[in-house]
Amino acid sequence: MRPLLFGFLVSILCAAFAFSQEHSTSASLNASSEKLQKELVAKYGDGQRERIGRGLRQVAEFWRPEDGDAAAFEQFVSTNFAGDQATLDTMFNRFENLLEQADGHMHEINRAFRQQADLDLGPILPFDEIFASYDPAAHMLDDFFSNKLAFVVLLNFPLATLDDYLTLGPNWTRRQWAEARLAEYFSKRIPAEVNLGLAQAAAEADEYISQYNIWMYHLVDAQGRRVFPPKLRLLSHWNLRDEIKADYADKENGLVKQRTIQQVMDRIVTQTIPGVVVDNPHVDWNPFTNEVKAAAEKDSDNPAHASDPVTNAAEPSTRYKVLLKTYQASKKADPYSPTAPTLIERRFNEDREIPEKRVQQMLVQVLSSPLVPRVAKLIQSRLGRPLEPFDIWYDGFLPRGAYAPSELDAVVSKRYPTAEAYQKDIPNLLVKLGFSPEKAQYVAANIIVDPARGSGHAMGAEMRTERAHLRTRVEKGGMNYKGFNIAVHEMGHNVEQTFSLNEVDHTLLRGVPNTAFTEALAMMLQGHDLEVLGLSSPDEKSEALRVLNDFWATYEIGGAALVDMAAWHWMYAHPDATAPQLRDATVQIAKEIWNHYYAPVFGKKDVVLLGIYSHMIDSFLYLPDYPIGHMIGFQVEEHMKKTGNIGGEFERMTKEGRVTPDMWMIHATGKPVGPDALLAAAERSLSKLE
Ligand SMILES: [Zn+2]
Repeated sequence: MRPLLFGFLVSILCAAFAFSQEHSTSASLNASSEKLQKELVAKYGDGQRERIGRGLRQVAEFWRPEDGDAAAFEQFVSTNFAGDQATLDTMFNRFENLLEQADGHMHEINRAFRQQADLDLGPILPFDEIFASYDPAAHMLDDFFSNKLAFVVLLNFPLATLDDYLTLGPNWTRRQWAEARLAEYFSKRIPAEVNLGLAQAAAEADEYISQYNIWMYHLVDAQGRRVFPPKLRLLSHWNLRDEIKADYADKENGLVKQRTIQQVMDRIVTQTIPGVVVDNPHVDWNPFTNEVKAAAEKDSDNPAHASDPVTNAAEPSTRYKVLLKTYQASKKADPYSPTAPTLIERRFNEDREIPEKRVQQMLVQVLSSPLVPRVAKLIQSRLGRPLEPFDIWYDGFLPRGAYAPSELDAVVSKRYPTAEAYQKDIPNLLVKLGFSPEKAQYVAANIIVDPARGSGHAMGAEMRTERAHLRTRVEKGGMNYKGFNIAVHEMGHNVEQTFSLNEVDHTLLRGVPNTAFTEALAMMLQGHDLEVLGLSSPDEKSEALRVLNDFWATYEIGGAALVDMAAWHWMYAHPDATAPQLRDATVQIAKEIWNHYYAPVFGKKDVVLLGIYSHMIDSFLYLPDYPIGHMIGFQVEEHMKKTGNIGGEFERMTKEGRVTPDMWMIHATGKPVGPDALLAAAERSLSKLE
């Protein structure tokens, strides 16, 4: 008993001590700040008054008892305030250079540690996985606060809010932009235990989602019939959705399969799914009546869990318990993020840098577009039946290519028997894509091609002395067409990464506003892959079909994004909610958004399918990125079509670096981010096909 009691007392004492310490520190920091303000203004002149006041406020906001007492605070400020332009310039340049070095080398270590996991280099041993998951930069921010480099920045450079970026940013100099990005490095100081909690919630959510399989052979109808083949195990929701898409080609059983999957999804969202059927091939389940029986047929050698009783007791709202945990963990970071004190604000104001209200308007503009019923009518006539709710995943617009897959594979494998052959051909490919011979050589010299273990990815550099890596898959007999198509996409990322790091005027501004931009640029180049092979590009009709496919996908995912957003607002408004309450609220939200934007088109109310997205559960308000990505893609593409100069425009756009999405897009195309280009392209395509 003694150690426990002792521990208990100590924890009480520490809490009391910490409280009085904190209390007295912040009170005396106020007094110190007033004193320092007077001293520094006297020393550097009235012109520095505003900078001094702001710097003192920013430092005091993040200063903790362990950083030192009031005397240490005073000592720190008077030593580190850069009161004249020459010192400030030196400080800025040094930080810019050294942070590039820190980020660049950390990234280099990370790349080396991941090499065995990422590249096709033989077996991955258990310790390789530890190397791969190690993050050498994990403690850097903590270190920079404890050695006070973070406070040097906070004392001398302004923290900006999204509002500042949007209203003042357009008139800033490039140096002012770079200063704001420098301060942004240190805009939050989240305690290690809060970050750990976030990582745990994310890992738990990931685990829950990654095991959520449905064994399709064990879905039975009232007559005990099975419509899916044995062993088919589909992960919710991606594989289930892709099965719905594939089933359009199954003229015999497609419709029955699609309706069955829709019913399964409904059960998942409402959590009326029997808990025992999740990832379990040992029970048969009729998703319409919800009846569960021991499996009458066996299609898996997985041992049955003796502890799983064959009952249709519903999954106990686990889906929403997991989501709620990600909210609770996120909320703990709120007090340490003064410029964006909710996860919602951090997502929109910091990660996306587009205000939530505008994202909402952009989504509503697509969802309520008069084009929606016109496209719906076209789908209906192509299907020859009235629409059903699962047709939000209609994929019948995708054109069948003019070339047989084997034909394409033959062309590609002959050209690229090895990864080196592709590497050598990069300058040639870039010239065909419209880059000047000099730029093509320059970019190619900054790309290293590696053989990927998976399908391929691009890994940019974080400092100018490093190069971008293109990871591509080359089979034994040479590259196949699918691999080539992906390689052109990844090469697009590498081109963007090279320009936006090496040609941008400040490395603090390296990169693009967010991932949607680099994806848009990569997909644009990928879309020209047949041309660079010397084959004919898609004709006008298949181009029009592709546009309608993207439009319909944006309409679908836009609704899911609205559900995601509304669910997070609901959680913030009900911080003490239970998982069943969150379940009921989410189901209600999904129905309302469906009833508003989809029911008039589909002729059916109260559908909950918009709540099925797995990333809504494990990705902390990520879904809006998808529809915004489609919109950005169309804006970039339309602009390229208009100017007809892909190489030159690509370089001009990406040299702008990481400003706000709107500023980047205005610079690139003359207009802020929005759905107009997508809607205009859909309108043109429709008039060609109707
Ligand atoms: Zn990509």
